Amino acid sequence: AEELKIAVGAMEISDKTVGDVMTKIDDVFMLPDTTTLNTKTVAEILRMGYTRIPVFAAGDRNNVVSLLFVKDLALLDPDDNFTIQTVCNYHQHALRFVLHDTPLRVMLEEFKKGDYHLAMVNEIVEHEDQDPSYQLQGVVTLEDIVEEILQAE
Ligand code: ATP
Ligand code: ATP
Repeated sequence: AEELKIAVGAMEISDKTVGDVMTKIDDVFMLPDTTTLNTKTVAEILRMGYTRIPVFAAGDRNNVVSLLFVKDLALLDPDDNFTIQTVCNYHQHALRFVLHDTPLRVMLEEFKKGDYHLAMVNEIVEHEDQDPSYQLQGVVTLEDIVEEILQAE
């Protein structure tokens, strides 16, 4: 029965998209680039338990500019009071965007290349009087796709 579930899951990813399995933006733990990395904020980041944290600029959650990796915090001295922006500028982890209607199969192939394992999910919003813009919808990771294949809820 477990094998059948996996087989069904593997077939089902063919008609699903990134938007179907992503973590929605309201549930994404992200931080402003101006955050000071002191004992209190580092403790909060560790408590959340995520490995990768999207970082936004200008107080705009739609404007994600970098990724903070929790492992970047390991060698930090909390008394230095570095900002997230300083740490991110130093590490420069690749930040990738995909559109919400990207087929899961395509996303899986992309993750399998191994360059990155979390992507920001965007939607294109049309406007009457100006160029289309991007609206951030969430994040997707390899785990979200694997869960879909294993039919784990
Ligand atoms: P890892 O397992 O590589 O240590 P992780 O536990 O932080 O990383 P994943 O295992 O890749 O994250 O993903 C687990 C779930 O958490 C997925 O549903 C993913 O979309 C979600 N997720 C990952 N990062 C965040 C984040 N910063 N905020 C909210 N949800 C996240
Ligand atoms: P141009 O308007 O010059 O063609 P672009 O905005 O399309 O540039 P690209 O680098 O071609 O930028 O974008 C590749 C992908 O990166 C887009 O599909 C989009 O999802 C994402 N992207 C680029 N810039 C941003 C941004 N500032 N915010 C969110 N997503 C972005």
